[in-house]
Amino acid sequence: MAPTATTNGHQAGQQEIDCLVVGGGFAGVQLLYTMRKQGFNTKLYEAMPGFGGIWRNACYPGARVDSELPIYGLKFPEVYRNWSWSQRYPDYKEIRKYFDHVDKVLELSKDCQFNTRVHSAHWNDETSRWDITAGDQQNPTKISAKYFFLCIGFAAKINWPDIPNRDRYKGTLYHSGFWPEGLEPEHLRGKSIGLVGTGASGVQITQALGKVAKDMTVFVRTPNLTLPMENPKMSKETQDLFRDGWDAVYEKRNKTFAGFHYDFDYDDWTRHTPEQREAFYEDIWSRKGFHFWLETYADVYFKKDCNDTAYAFWHKKTAPMVKDEKKRAILVPPPDKAHHTFGTVRPSLQVDYYDILNQDNVDVISVKENPIKTFTETGVELSDGKKVDFEVLALATGYDTHTGGFLQIDIRGKGGKPLTEHWKEGCKSQLGLATSGFPNMFFAYGPHGPTAYSNGPSTTDIQCEFLARMLNWSKENNIKSIEAKPKAEQAFVKRIDDLSKATLFHQSHGWYMGRNVKGKPVQALNYSGGIPAYIKDLEESEAAGYSGFDAVKA
Ligand code: NAP
Repeated sequence: MAPTATTNGHQAGQQEIDCLVVGGGFAGVQLLYTMRKQGFNTKLYEAMPGFGGIWRNACYPGARVDSELPIYGLKFPEVYRNWSWSQRYPDYKEIRKYFDHVDKVLELSKDCQFNTRVHSAHWNDETSRWDITAGDQQNPTKISAKYFFLCIGFAAKINWPDIPNRDRYKGTLYHSGFWPEGLEPEHLRGKSIGLVGTGASGVQITQALGKVAKDMTVFVRTPNLTLPMENPKMSKETQDLFRDGWDAVYEKRNKTFAGFHYDFDYDDWTRHTPEQREAFYEDIWSRKGFHFWLETYADVYFKKDCNDTAYAFWHKKTAPMVKDEKKRAILVPPPDKAHHTFGTVRPSLQVDYYDILNQDNVDVISVKENPIKTFTETGVELSDGKKVDFEVLALATGYDTHTGGFLQIDIRGKGGKPLTEHWKEGCKSQLGLATSGFPNMFFAYGPHGPTAYSNGPSTTDIQCEFLARMLNWSKENNIKSIEAKPKAEQAFVKRIDDLSKATLFHQSHGWYMGRNVKGKPVQALNYSGGIPAYIKDLEESEAAGYSGFDAVKA
């Protein structure tokens, strides 16, 4: 059979393989590489034309990672020995180049089919395999796989805002989560631009488009509690000096709460006098990046009074950056008007965000009390009747995270039960890797993993290694299928909930709890015990012969 136009080494048509991996980001790449090394016949399908996961879709102006090198990378020496980044926080273009390098070194493409979206995956009770369709819906590629891995990331489904009459708007509309390839800030020079959303995507778009727009209006519902980013250029020579230590950095990722190379201060925050606390905050603030978020007292996320001090410090540092009083009130609310506790929504890193917002041609409108009522032909109308016009509207309204991407694929488990039914009241998982009734189906960097409290490679590395070991064990023990036990799943969902309830994250207003999407079950979507505790949970299951999973012999 002739290969399809977009195929790299893979033949179209029905095939029987051991593993189908969906998604070409960090998790997918690592699983393809490791499963293949372990002798499993493995293929990878990716909806986009290349590797890179989210960095293929979310290529909006300014898109850049918030986790510094070398944390944001694969730990394999064969990959990092011959790769140097050009800056501490690379942009999406450089991350794509990194994935090209990974592809070359690990020889991945020969087992991948790009431009191939998976539409359905049905467990076949008779064959104990997954029947999967993908690609062209009229003439789909069909494949039968023993194991089905969903490595689609936590942001595989866009969250369109619930603003009525989107079709009425005649201007140009973009969403940060599916930005047109090649549409650069330069193409929007001199335009009048509107922007909805102040998450990481909104902050980065503001910085990029605010420099080229004729005028810009930023609609703010919840201001971002940003932290300063310092993004120096990095030479190969500098990285060569430290490269021998990268192994240790990757080991350190497994020993810290968020998978970074620094961690919380776990001692009681009240041991410090107010003066000592101020000095402590000054120190971690001066380190820039996420240090003020992730190297602070752990108590910031457990004790409201401690959190209040962090918010007050953030406010003290940030308020002077905004010149105009009206803008400042919206962007940097004082402690008594805070929208939420500090750090319980991922803060975004900013370079010149407030400089852009200070510009006279940039307006800031609060849509908290005065929401956008409707789209108009030329812009939007607010609830108080005020109309705002623009030629281009960028929506940076985020994603139906963690579960949305899974539920838009027609996935059916034992007895034909749809995943949409199994997760109707909220997602259920064993260890954030599998769900009961769906044998031999696994996921990574999705619900119930450290996911959003961490970063991609830090989380996926642990999960992929565990899965590879478990399936190797299955092979050695002649296992036909392996599946999460319903009781273990129930216990793990309770664990996720209990861990979350102990923290201030549980009240967080946004996507961490599924509160950003109307009608979505509100639940803890991440493992909030930190990476070392998560690893311990995995190790305990493994030591007990993969407890929490039912293994059926062939
Ligand atoms: P997000 O954090 O969910 O932000 C969505 C924004 O849209 C929020 O400000 C939200 O306001 C606003 N919004 C939604 N509907 C609205 C409406 N109807 N009217 C007005 N405002 C509305 O999404 P994101 O910025 O795409 O980021 C998602 C996550 O992706 C990040 O937290 C991060 O983990 C990841 N990411 C990372 C990077 C990076 O590495 N630098 C870059 C981009 C994304 P409310 O808060 O009031 O709901």
